[in-house]
Amino acid sequence: MPLTPLVVLDAPLDMHLHLRDGEMLENIAKGSAHIFSGAIIMPNLVPPVSNKEEVIAYKERIMKAIGNQKFIPYMTLFFKPSYDKAFLESVRDEITAIKLYPAGITTNSEGGVSGFDVEELRTTLEAMSELSIPLCVHGETNGFVMDREAEFVSIYEKLASAFPKLKIIMEHITTKESVAALEKHDNLYATITIHHLLITLDDVAGGMLQPHLFCKPIAKRPEDREALLKVALEAHPKVMFGSDSAPHPKHAKEACGCAAGVFTAPIALQLLAELFEKHNTLDKLQNFISGNAQNIYGVKPLNKTVTLEKKAFTVPADYNGVVPMYAGEEIAYSIKDVKNG
Ligand SMILES: [Zn+2]
Repeated sequence: MPLTPLVVLDAPLDMHLHLRDGEMLENIAKGSAHIFSGAIIMPNLVPPVSNKEEVIAYKERIMKAIGNQKFIPYMTLFFKPSYDKAFLESVRDEITAIKLYPAGITTNSEGGVSGFDVEELRTTLEAMSELSIPLCVHGETNGFVMDREAEFVSIYEKLASAFPKLKIIMEHITTKESVAALEKHDNLYATITIHHLLITLDDVAGGMLQPHLFCKPIAKRPEDREALLKVALEAHPKVMFGSDSAPHPKHAKEACGCAAGVFTAPIALQLLAELFEKHNTLDKLQNFISGNAQNIYGVKPLNKTVTLEKKAFTVPADYNGVVPMYAGEEIAYSIKDVKNG
């Protein structure tokens, strides 16, 4: 009998994760903590995480929710242009990055930045450069939904030029324009989700509307997906995996007024193995899932080895009331085993 092909991943990292709070945090955090060594935790709670006490308290709630799992939550603050150097110095040891949201662009981003005047942002962004705190950005304008990210690229470029020592992470990129921007500025990096590598707008709205594939930024055109695939599958050193796994209760997704977010955390590694195998690039997956992120962020994750096997897995209908991508469908890989240490 032929051996089942195995894929072994060391210290997988999810560089963009929503763990939410309260009951949702309790319900879903263990899932990520089991199969990932660490994750960048998004700060868009209500109210957003925006001071040292809130960062510490949120981290404690996460550690409590994950129980005895070995997992590092890399904490972030919600960007405010009022942060000055003294404040940032005081919080530096508690955070890995700061996340900037344009006001009102996605879930719980109402207190974000409106207008991107370099002078208004200078105090905070210069202090971040000096303290080597990366800036993570949800890059969308309030323009037409399919054009929002491409329109934001000029803002990325403006910030990258004005603050050349600031590491800027273009979060969950979905367009060929963002991929092109990576090559133009040394200090631009990007995270890419698994769903944007797999779907286009056709999968969301081309047939019957698929609420569990609806997210911000919305999935784009086939040529955009091709551009993302190219840099992900070669594990381009400036890109890394960030699931943007964003759970909402089933009733908030299957509703008139569907919340934006795709829940992928429990199946992301399996889907990545399947995708990279399909393109004969499994040898690049380690860098995409961990090595590049370690280099870009300078983080040293906990040892954790996740072994996947090519064995069909039927995605559950829900995980504690949250419907995942591909619920009820069969995917090609399963988690065989997870070893800590
Ligand atoms: Zn997100």
